[in-house]
Amino acid sequence: MFDTVAYLVEHEHEKLVYVNERETGLRTIIAIHNTVRGPSLGGCRLWHYDAYNDALLDVLRLSEGMSYKAAMANLPLGGGKSVIIADGKEDDPVLRKERFAAFGEVVESLDGRYITAEDVGTTTSDMVIVREHTKHVTGLPEDMGGSGDPSPVTALGVFRSMQAMIEDVLNRDNFDGLKVSIQGMGKVGSALAKHLTEAGATVIGTDVNEASIERARQLGVQIVPTEEIFDVEADIFAPCALGAVLNDDTIPRLRCKIVTGAANNQLAEPRHADMLHERGIAYGVDYVVNGGGLINVYHEIIGYNREAALSAASNIYHTVKRINEMAQREHITTYAAADRLAREALKPQAMAH
Ligand code: NAD
Repeated sequence: MFDTVAYLVEHEHEKLVYVNERETGLRTIIAIHNTVRGPSLGGCRLWHYDAYNDALLDVLRLSEGMSYKAAMANLPLGGGKSVIIADGKEDDPVLRKERFAAFGEVVESLDGRYITAEDVGTTTSDMVIVREHTKHVTGLPEDMGGSGDPSPVTALGVFRSMQAMIEDVLNRDNFDGLKVSIQGMGKVGSALAKHLTEAGATVIGTDVNEASIERARQLGVQIVPTEEIFDVEADIFAPCALGAVLNDDTIPRLRCKIVTGAANNQLAEPRHADMLHERGIAYGVDYVVNGGGLINVYHEIIGYNREAALSAASNIYHTVKRINEMAQREHITTYAAADRLAREALKPQAMAH
């Protein structure tokens, strides 16, 4: 049986909140992993789980991941996350509103130690309801004084990460004539393609959605069938669609020197970082590279200014350089180096300096 307290102790979580609300049927779990750097921030996921323990493990893992992401984005934030367990009844708009109102009350009861936002299964409209019950919510629409779509900021962070990677791996200071393949020509993928084509790179992309493909074509992206993206010969492969795309099946097919993209949780398992390394493929660690989204919502909290958010995302370049340098020096993977740097940054002593 899953030993919750043992997990909390081992992974150093600070707080776990379960709520089973009688009136609305809201079942939510909020996990606060680390608030050494500042209040914990992480989205609210609405998802159907086969077992409550699956929801618990999901929120515990995701909240820890948010601590690392915030630390590596150099933000005064900690890691937290919440899940709302879907039961189908939330399809009723009235009940959905009531549940998000109740969820807002739970967030409010945590006194700002946890800040919530939209995530898989939730929408900005849900967050507007939450906002009526707590001010500890971010990522609101622009017409509500929020920061709106974070994708341009995320895309800039990915582009800057690629600049760091081509310098360190290819010894290049420009994209002229380089080939980049992108899986997922959605909001981030297309904005990234624009940066790359403007910088002189050739972009090969794929998507499962016709509208995304059409938008990519307009940007001059060469489209390949979905399954072929892993076989494209390119300097960089950028996963910008789904998680777990770096796995036993895909890694042996990759014909690139660098993998750097926006998607969350790209490695199917941590050992796939070693697998890339053994094949001489340099990996730009996902939670570092895609930190622009978090940087954007942080800037909403302090008073939104897009230029300031873009400038902070641009600095991801320096973090990627630091990671590459450490990996090189210590003969470890970039994944291990990022993990080590993040853990250091989460210690109370790190904040004293
Ligand atoms: P999006 O939904 O706008 O784009 C994703 C695109 O991937 C869509 O066009 C979709 O059709 C396509 N896609 C889905 N399955 C595919 C497949 N099998 N092969 C090819 N394409 C496929 O999402 P987005 O905002 O651009 O985010 C992209 C990724 O980056 C996601 O994994 C997201 O979690 C992550 N991310 C996004 C942000 C952000 O600011 N938007 C921040 C951090 C991380």
